[in-house]
Amino acid sequence: MLNTILVTGGAGYIGSHTTLCLLEKGYEVVVIDNLANASKESLKRVEKLTGKKLTFFEVDLLHETDIHKVLSCHPNIRQVIHFAGLKAVGESTDDPLRYYHNNLTGTLHLLRALESTNIRQMVFSSSATVYGYPTTIPVNEHAPIQPTNPYGHTKAMIEQIILDTIAAYNWGVVILRYFNPVGAHASGEIGEDPAYPNNLLPYITQVAAGVREKVTIFGDDYPTPDGSGVRDYIHVVDLAHAHIAALGALDKQPTGAQLYNVGTGKGYSVKEVLEATQAVVDRPIPVEVGPRRAGDVAELTSDPSRAHAALGWNAKHDLKEMVRSAWHWQSKNPHGYRKQ
Ligand code: NAD
Ligand code: UDP
Repeated sequence: MLNTILVTGGAGYIGSHTTLCLLEKGYEVVVIDNLANASKESLKRVEKLTGKKLTFFEVDLLHETDIHKVLSCHPNIRQVIHFAGLKAVGESTDDPLRYYHNNLTGTLHLLRALESTNIRQMVFSSSATVYGYPTTIPVNEHAPIQPTNPYGHTKAMIEQIILDTIAAYNWGVVILRYFNPVGAHASGEIGEDPAYPNNLLPYITQVAAGVREKVTIFGDDYPTPDGSGVRDYIHVVDLAHAHIAALGALDKQPTGAQLYNVGTGKGYSVKEVLEATQAVVDRPIPVEVGPRRAGDVAELTSDPSRAHAALGWNAKHDLKEMVRSAWHWQSKNPHGYRKQ
């Protein structure tokens, strides 16, 4: 019998795809989420798609005693995947105290609660944003940590807290630094459901669907082949599989820190993503060129070779599949998980 996994933030975008993957692989799953940026509907759909049951607790990591209650109800939990957190860069700059409180205090509560049990293994969602403005592209895990916004600082600080926890209490943690997760499950039943899309692909698909008027390219004067920003987009299903591989890596190496970039290693420009979407949706997508967005880098791509070697994991989906699945989700769910 496989381990029971606690998934924090499991109702969210990446958490719901990973929960689906865990259930498909035969894991038992306990999800906690405060639904600050998610809907229970995602988990209902995960159960329907897999034909399996999961356990859900509407719990806020800011309430430490509630985490203890969940852990005491489920003494069979052996590993944790910690997704829960706030993730909007702009919002973190406008309201840094909320971000530091939620992401740092929430994580500290979780770690303290786990430390009071015998659970010592965790996979943590970090981000390529910890690299800030990297000097070498593609970025490998040795690049300096120099975040440029409060959200990125919360990720860098949590990484440090985790390293200190490992050293003091002999834990095992895999830190995954995601590049740009996009796309949706092939069923079109679960996907990214932002209240307002800050990220490129959800914005483009909403414009294609007529929900928003036009896409603004944030700058076409970067030192990149077509002048628009280049990123390393990774299909969310590939990312979910990286978490399964990370749990396996913890089985093999139960203590110590493991740190991996999770991207495809291939960069696409904003204009290339627009062209790929245009080809998939087969309808006009109004576009304008605007100024650069503050804080953006010209290019950010990963060197994922360490994850390939150590986790035996590789991304399988190309840009076309990322775009096609994002559009399938958008078309099937014009209002996301809401009824209208
Ligand atoms: P998401 O917002 O869809 O999921 C995060 C989940 O955490 C939400 O369901 C939210 O309700 C929950 N949550 C937030 N604060 C909580 C709290 N105090 N207690 C309990 N639940 C709480 O985001 P996502 O895109 O699925 O991201 C998952 C993780 O991956 C986050 O930690 C994010 O920072 C990180 N990440 C995301 C991206 C990306 O582009 N999506 C890139 C790099 C890293
Ligand atoms: N971008 C854009 N228009 C948008 C949103 C994003 O041109 O409406 C660009 C952005 O400048 C970056 C790329 O698309 O070059 C990816 O941005 P996103 O916000 O999706 O991810 P980031 O890498 O900034 O976290």
